[in-house]
Amino acid sequence: MTTLTADIEQSPPRFERILGSYRGNATGASVVCVAGIHGNEVSGIHALRRVLRVLEDRRPPFRGEFVGIAGNLSALERGDRYLAEDLNRVWTEDRIEAVRELAPDRFTTIEHEEMWGLLSALDDAFTRSRGECYFLDLHTSSAGGGPFVLLGDTIRNRSLAFKIPAPVILGLEETIDGVLLEYVNSLGHVTIGFEAGQHDDPASIDNQESAIWIGLLHAGCIDAGDVPEAVEARRRLNERTHKLPRIMELRYRKPVSPEDHFRMRPGYMNFQPVSAGEVVASDRNGDVAVKETGRLLLPLYQGKGSDGYFLARDVRPFWLFVSSVLRHLHAHHLVRILPGIWHHPTRPDTFVVNRRVARWVPMQVLHLLGFRKVREEGEYLTVSRRRYDLKSPHI
Ligand SMILES: [Zn+2]
Repeated sequence: MTTLTADIEQSPPRFERILGSYRGNATGASVVCVAGIHGNEVSGIHALRRVLRVLEDRRPPFRGEFVGIAGNLSALERGDRYLAEDLNRVWTEDRIEAVRELAPDRFTTIEHEEMWGLLSALDDAFTRSRGECYFLDLHTSSAGGGPFVLLGDTIRNRSLAFKIPAPVILGLEETIDGVLLEYVNSLGHVTIGFEAGQHDDPASIDNQESAIWIGLLHAGCIDAGDVPEAVEARRRLNERTHKLPRIMELRYRKPVSPEDHFRMRPGYMNFQPVSAGEVVASDRNGDVAVKETGRLLLPLYQGKGSDGYFLARDVRPFWLFVSSVLRHLHAHHLVRILPGIWHHPTRPDTFVVNRRVARWVPMQVLHLLGFRKVREEGEYLTVSRRRYDLKSPHI
């Protein structure tokens, strides 16, 4: 097994946007992976190179295409999370449109240019696809404590997420605007994010590699019998994660900005249980205590970042089953008969909620029906669900 240090020593000093691709003669799905959208998260790059190397050496029967793409090239070269702005917070409709229209010589920041390059690479990969597209966004974190899958909660995304033997976290990306996963999901592709572990831990590369192989198996690009490395990677990940919770739901995100002088207390890790009132950090106003009992995710131990920590709690698999049944029955149409809730005038997958009435409709009911994105808009709340929950628009 290659170590992180050895991989870094072999790495060229510059990163190419397309790390590599592998295509079979038979038609099939496309598996597209992005690593290093945060420049201090290089382990996904090494994992993609490993998988590409095995495919090139072994040349197994392959259906469809596999593409490995690097995220923020300039930040990767400096080993920094980003230079001017976080490349994983810019994928809003307005900004994507602006970047598409602007000539490259008019870009004002490095990340503007990176976004254009990454968008072009993704456009190419998705346009070439002749089947379903599966998209994996690979990350690592400043804290250790076990890998996990980030799931935009659609039934189609669940089918891939639950193949990966690691905790699945619902609702995390809904709390942050402008993440790449959300954009790719809105195109109708099956998407998951994978947090593989601590930035410099060699095990994070192994974990990323496992997630990629499982993606290729699930998409039907390869058969398990042809690639023993894929089966071994899945077994190894399972061994590392079987004691962790299976499904969790995000409850809270601690937003931070540089002026807050936010400092996590030392020693916290992903999945660490915390009790309501426990002081986990400090900022310019003094102690920062968690509001409810749960488990910490992604405690911030690096200079750059706008999320201090997340708080999640365990979800019983039964509730996922209930929500799957409800969604297959298209029960979300029933939302409109609830008092104080009406269709958004311009956004088809969004409802407007009168706050006074919303007190009587538990958010859990809306979550079960697939409405996970909740935003305050003036005196109302809006709740949105993802468009391609059950059916692919591509096949
Ligand atoms: Zn990241």
